[in-house]
Amino acid sequence: MKPAPFQYHAPRSLQEAVAILAQVAPADGRVLAGGQSLVPIMAFRLARPSHLVDINGIEALARLAVENGKLCIGACVRHAAFERPVVEGPLGRLLAMVVRHIAHSPIRARGTFCGSIAHADPASEWCALVAALDGEIVATSVRGARVIAAGQFFAGIMATALAEDEVLTEVRLPLLAPDTRCGFYEFNRRAGDFALAMAVVHFRLVEGRMFKPRVAIGGAETHPRRVAAAEAALAANAPSPRVFADAAARAARDVEPLEDAQTNAQYRRELVVAVTRRALEAAL
Ligand SMILES: Cc1cc2nc3c(=O)[nH]c(=O)nc-3n(C[C@H](O)[C@H](O)[C@H](O)COP(=O)(O)OP(=O)(O)OC[C@H]3O[C@@H](n4cnc5c(N)ncnc54)[C@H](O)[C@@H]3O)c2cc1C
Repeated sequence: MKPAPFQYHAPRSLQEAVAILAQVAPADGRVLAGGQSLVPIMAFRLARPSHLVDINGIEALARLAVENGKLCIGACVRHAAFERPVVEGPLGRLLAMVVRHIAHSPIRARGTFCGSIAHADPASEWCALVAALDGEIVATSVRGARVIAAGQFFAGIMATALAEDEVLTEVRLPLLAPDTRCGFYEFNRRAGDFALAMAVVHFRLVEGRMFKPRVAIGGAETHPRRVAAAEAALAANAPSPRVFADAAARAARDVEPLEDAQTNAQYRRELVVAVTRRALEAAL
């Protein structure tokens, strides 16, 4: 199918983009980034935006830089940018480890990191990573810019704290201490498919005990989030199979699993046990 008719806008600056969006958002005007989610759903006529505001011509949004101890990822930075570490240390390696699981090479060449965050698919790898790292999301509109913490950003299946006239301009991720251990594990039926469950974990080892452990689960619920019960099971403990199994069991008990025709809640809980334990083992 072909998309329903729409008016195309190609602003050259952020100021211009937010001004257009302020006008067209009430008539279902939307931002177009990589188009790897929006264009297919338009083609199926599951979305019929009347205006598209294409941000790809805004040079300032292609920024990928380290500032004040944070990696700043502009709205036009593609998934593929992370295939090689973009910063030294654990953060660059974690991003490179995770990106391989997103779709396929042509999609990674065009889709954007920030587009994934704005789209907020429950099974988005970047959304789970941003949750695990307590990232910050910068939203800009004609009213100015505001910073939203990851914990307050994801609100449900493809639902976020972004207002309809806001452009997600940047995501900021904290650089991780050199001794941070990071792990990622996801389960999907075929390579490149959206995952049924995934875990992103990180912790530091101080005198052999886990310090500030973080466990985020994606794919299993309406939106990715940190699971405090699993983190509490790890904190101040030495890593061991028993401690990892306990954290994984607590994560599974805590989630409210999505169900569909092929997947019931019990199956998804069992997947959460497996992905959490394997991500922790990978981190170690
Ligand atoms: C076959 C296939 C497999 C895929 N597999 C995976 C996968 O395994 N894991 C995964 O995470 N993703 C997957 N994707 C989705 C892909 O990662 C998309 O690139 C991503 O979800 C959206 O990024 P985009 O830049 O393409 O956004 P677009 O498609 O341009 O936009 C998506 C939505 O977000 C909004 N939006 C985008 N950018 C902004 C912004 N800066 N500010 C405000 N709103 C914005 C748009 O208005 C739109 O509603 C897959 C896609 C396909 C087609």
